[in-house]
Amino acid sequence: MLGMAGTLATITAAMAGASIFVAIWLVLAWLLCVILIAIAAHGRGRSPLWWLCLAILLTPLIAALMLLLFAERPDLRVRRDARQGRGGLRLCPSCSEVVRSEARRCRFCLADLTRRAEPLPALIPDDRVEPRLQ
Ligand SMILES: [Zn+2]
Repeated sequence: MLGMAGTLATITAAMAGASIFVAIWLVLAWLLCVILIAIAAHGRGRSPLWWLCLAILLTPLIAALMLLLFAERPDLRVRRDARQGRGGLRLCPSCSEVVRSEARRCRFCLADLTRRAEPLPALIPDDRVEPRLQ
């Protein structure tokens, strides 16, 4: 009887040790997921600290799903499209603000956006310059 109790105590102690080991691993995996979400949020132009707290409070899985839903800040996406000339947008060469690609004047800095299409006077070949009257 005493031997059986000793065996039970040994098994219980082993299970407690194993559960502590599993708990430590779960906490480490949780922290890793939380940090990965903060890094992913930073890469998408979001506040890493805010997403770190969100992942701690709401579990990393829910935070990851939310991060996928609000993947990229809309203003950053518009700016990226404008830089690549997509979505009917482009960046003003003078002030780097997003303007429509068909705009003729920047609405922010009032720069003339049609000048780039015209050749510079110094680049016009001589034969195309109007001959002077003699
Ligand atoms: Zn401008």
